[in-house]
Amino acid sequence: MNKNEMYISFDARSVNEGFARVAVAAFLTEADPTLDEIADIKTAVSEAVTNAIIHGYESPEEKVELSCRVQGNEVEITVKDHGCGIPDVEKAREPFYTTKPQLERSGMGFAFMEAFMDRVEVISSVGNGTTVIMQKKIGV
Ligand code: ATP
Ligand code: MG
Repeated sequence: MNKNEMYISFDARSVNEGFARVAVAAFLTEADPTLDEIADIKTAVSEAVTNAIIHGYESPEEKVELSCRVQGNEVEITVKDHGCGIPDVEKAREPFYTTKPQLERSGMGFAFMEAFMDRVEVISSVGNGTTVIMQKKIGV
């Protein structure tokens, strides 16, 4: 299959987390993923988008950018915010690390992304925002 790519931008509102999951799932349908693969990808997208909304931004007017690319059996998803950024990415990626325990966050978002995707790259700079790039091979 040839390369296929999509990009969406949406308000940083919690209601849009569901939209983001479904948008990615719908886009990936033509790549013929298994139900397990699509469930894994939806979970990872949810975690990354929730992080952008809850941690990245203070205002729901800001935008989360989501792109998805399929090439052969390789899926790459990028979730980007232009929010506060992460001071120590290595620490943030540790299981159970959270800066919002009062919101009943468990600190497992990055751990889930890593568990459900083959590769997770986090690029962040304080004051400029965060980009999460996730890759997964489907149909293997
Ligand atoms: P959970 O995902 O289990 O609800 P959590 O969101 O705190 O809890 P992670 O998703 O693993 O856990 O993220 C760990 C920490 O990394 C967050 O508490 C936050 O401090 C920081 N972080 C993650 N994503 C972003 C982001 N997009 N912008 C700013 N900080 C972030
Ligand atoms: Mg999280």
